[in-house]
Amino acid sequence: MITKNKNRLSIFDKSLQELETFCVKNGFKKYNAHQIMRWVYFYRIFDFNKMTNISKPLRNTLTDCFQTDLPEIIKTVHEEDGAGHSRKYLIRFRDNRTIESVLIEYRDRRTLCVSSQIGCKMGCLFCETAGLGFSRNLSSGEILSQILLVNEDIKGGITNVVFMGMGEPLDNITNVEKSVDIMSDNNFLSIAPRKITISTCGIMDKVKIAEKFNCKIAISLNASNDTTRNKLMPINKKFPLKNIVDLINDRKPSIHNKITLEYVLIKDINDNISNAKELEKIFSPSKVKFNLIPLNKGEDSIFLRNFERADDNALSNFKTKLLKAGFTVTTRFSKAQSINGGCGQLTAKTIYSS
Ligand code: SF4
Repeated sequence: MITKNKNRLSIFDKSLQELETFCVKNGFKKYNAHQIMRWVYFYRIFDFNKMTNISKPLRNTLTDCFQTDLPEIIKTVHEEDGAGHSRKYLIRFRDNRTIESVLIEYRDRRTLCVSSQIGCKMGCLFCETAGLGFSRNLSSGEILSQILLVNEDIKGGITNVVFMGMGEPLDNITNVEKSVDIMSDNNFLSIAPRKITISTCGIMDKVKIAEKFNCKIAISLNASNDTTRNKLMPINKKFPLKNIVDLINDRKPSIHNKITLEYVLIKDINDNISNAKELEKIFSPSKVKFNLIPLNKGEDSIFLRNFERADDNALSNFKTKLLKAGFTVTTRFSKAQSINGGCGQLTAKTIYSS
C-alpha cells in the first residue's frame, strides 16, 4: 500500500486516551475518539471519509494528521493437517523490516501468534529468532496491525492471541500493554484478556507488571535447575529459577489462571526423568501447568545445530512423571512446524525457502 504522507502518524499507534487528548486539543469532542477507534477496529473501516457519524471537519483533520496504512503481507505459506490449518505470514513494515506472524486454526479457534520485536536480544540457545539479534521494538500499532491484516485475509475474527512470535514481549512491555488494551476492549477487537497469552523468557520484575493486564502468562522455563537454565537462557543469570518459583508460590492457587510453564524438551540436555523429579520438587500442581514442546528443528536450522529433539520415549516418561505428580500437562507438537512456524522457529526469512 502506498503511503501518501510519510510524516503522518499511524492511527494504529494511538491509544484511546491519546486520541481523546488529540480530539479535545483540536476542538472536537472527547467521545469522538471512541467513535474513530470503533470504526477502525470494530468495523475495519480505514478510510476516515467513510466514518459517517464523524463531522467533516474532524474527518479532514484526521486525514491531515494520520495515515491508516497497514503493513504489507509479502508472502504466506500454508500447512494443512487432519486437525487444522496453519498459515505463516511474512509482513513488511514501512522501514522495510520484516516479521512473521502465524495463524493456527483449530476447530472454531483462530489463534494468532504475534511478534513483538524485530529479532530478539535474549539469546536463548534453542531459538532461531535469537540468531537474528535485535533490530527494534514493534510499536503498539505494528502489533495490532498483525491482527488487522490477518482478520482481513481470513475474512473473520482472530479469537485468541499469543505473544509467542519473534521477540520478548516484556522487553517491549509499554507497547505490548497498549496493544492489549485495544485488542481486549469489547468495543474494538474484543479478544478477552483470558484469550491473550503473554509468553516470557522470565523477565521477572516485568512479569509482576504484566500480571495486572489480566492476560494469561506463560513462562518459558526449559530447565529444572540453574546450571542447565544458565546454559540455555542468559536471562537466568539475572533472574535465577528461584525468582520464578517465588513468584509462582506467592500467587493464590487458581484453577482458571495458573501460570503455564513452557518446557522445550531437548535430547540429553533437559529431558531426563531426574529433571521431571526436580520440577516436581519445586513447583506445586495447584499453581502451574506444564506445556511440553519437543524441540522444533528445521532441516536448514543454523542456530540449533548443537541440539536434538527429545525422543518420543523420553517425552512420554517425562510427561507421565509430571502427570503422576498431579500436574496438568499438555504436549505441543507445534503446529505449523513444516512451514517453520513453530515455537522458536520464526526468523522472517525461512519463509523464502518454502
Ligand atoms: S525464545 Fe523468545 S525470548 Fe528467547 S530468544 Fe527466542 S524470541 Fe527471544
